[in-house]
Amino acid sequence: MDLRGFMSDMIRSELEDAVGQENVSVSTGEKLAYGTDYFWLARMWVDKGQMPPIPDYIVRPGSAEEVSSVLKIANYYKTPVYTWGGGSGTQGGALAMAGGIMMDTKRMDRLINIDTVSGTITVETGMVFQTMEWYANEQGFSVMHIPSCLTCCTVGGALAHNGIGIMSTKYGKIDDQCLGLEVVLPNGNIIHSLQVPKHSSGPDIRQMFIGSEGTLGIMTKATFKMVRLPEVRKHHAFLFKDMPTGIQACREIVQTLKPSIMRLFDEAETVSIIKKVLGFEKKGAFMNLTVEGKAEIVVVEEKIVLEICDKYGAQYLGTEYGEKWYENRITFFYPGYMMNNPQMFGTMDTTATFDKIEKIYWAMKHAVEDNFPDVKFIAHCSHWYDWGTMLYDRFIMDNPPEDPEEALRLHNKIWNTGVRAALANGGVINDHHGVGLKLGHLMKEQYGPAMQVLEGLKKALDPNGIMNPYKLGL
Ligand SMILES: Cc1cc2nc3c(=O)[nH]c(=O)nc-3n(C[C@H](O)[C@H](O)[C@H](O)COP(=O)(O)OP(=O)(O)OC[C@H]3O[C@@H](n4cnc5c(N)ncnc54)[C@H](O)[C@@H]3O)c2cc1C
Repeated sequence: MDLRGFMSDMIRSELEDAVGQENVSVSTGEKLAYGTDYFWLARMWVDKGQMPPIPDYIVRPGSAEEVSSVLKIANYYKTPVYTWGGGSGTQGGALAMAGGIMMDTKRMDRLINIDTVSGTITVETGMVFQTMEWYANEQGFSVMHIPSCLTCCTVGGALAHNGIGIMSTKYGKIDDQCLGLEVVLPNGNIIHSLQVPKHSSGPDIRQMFIGSEGTLGIMTKATFKMVRLPEVRKHHAFLFKDMPTGIQACREIVQTLKPSIMRLFDEAETVSIIKKVLGFEKKGAFMNLTVEGKAEIVVVEEKIVLEICDKYGAQYLGTEYGEKWYENRITFFYPGYMMNNPQMFGTMDTTATFDKIEKIYWAMKHAVEDNFPDVKFIAHCSHWYDWGTMLYDRFIMDNPPEDPEEALRLHNKIWNTGVRAALANGGVINDHHGVGLKLGHLMKEQYGPAMQVLEGLKKALDPNGIMNPYKLGL
């Protein structure tokens, strides 16, 4: 923000009154730390010595009331506000693209309540997700939201992106798991969704904020359902001749029973990442699958899974590689396994119904590899619904241009080409990574006239447009 004279200090002193002097920072070093999240472009920009987008103030509120005071100040001065949880987002969603206040939520990390009768847990949203899971585990329960970013994302960040965990095929996405929310609106009002998520008292307010990426308000508390920890958890692995055959088999499995984990890797990912992490050498489409719950039920489910996979000609690989996959469920993202700078990469993350998913897979693969011969396209399906699945589709370029602006242009071009191929074939542009800065410009293309509903909501709740500008296409 371009503030003259003592204006900047005026705002700073009001922020200090709201949250305490020790919880406001204008130090350049700290501002730079908020200059990049896990978005490839932001990381490349910093790696090349370019100035990242930084905020003017970093504010660390300790309660919903303090968040409310900060938002009132921001609204009065019409200063942008960004919410920062763990900064692990991949779409640039938390970045301060227009200066202003960076609100880091991590001081709000208290456990509010565990109710083992109803099976619910309520926490403040700045809590790291793993911590909430530990609280649930101590009581013999699990929230069953186990994303690969479990240890580096906050509860609020996961809700803001409508995230998903590796157990989703049985236990659902975070919007199935979250029962209620406390939200601070841009005008500073603190509101609560109704006590239960299933009702017919009008549209569900909770769902309006899940996935809203800090553009409509700041979530400060959340209640989740918990499930009892499973008696047994059994891992298996299979090899299909190709991805399309694997998709057919997985569709039949998920329409018959619910494995907790089911991951199907295309031929390109099987010979690259699966080989690297699990040491699995064969060609084909690798699939690992986990069933869990009461022991007697799991035995029956295992039998059905084996029969279905056999019907589609899969080779059964036993339990070893399934167990190995589970042990390494986060290793996939460790340095050396995950692609990293100077490589260029992006996860396009597409979701669609079963009748379209294969067509989308081929359309995206051809669009990327035919138009950009130096770029590889790899994909796996990791979250399955009764009606369809998601493609975790990535493009990778080993030797991108040295010049940061040229690299930025190419990155946008590849991403737009891949995502537009998905849109043209009936895909939805994101399953769980969110839209952020990266995909905002495609929201109108995706929604058409329906975008006015989201725009209307934005105008009504945030008339001064202070909340996370340039994100979610709003
Ligand atoms: C190694 C790795 C693995 C990953 N694996 C998964 C995975 O398995 N599943 C998955 O879903 N994602 C995954 N992600 C993506 C990312 O971690 C998630 O989107 C995560 O939930 C973001 O949480 P965060 O706290 O880091 O949010 P941030 O990056 O800090 O913010 C993300 C967005 O949420 C908004 N926000 C944050 N807190 C709040 C709040 N309290 N109220 C309102 N808005 C808020 C921000 O403004 C921003 O728009 C992964 C990322 C990495 C780096």
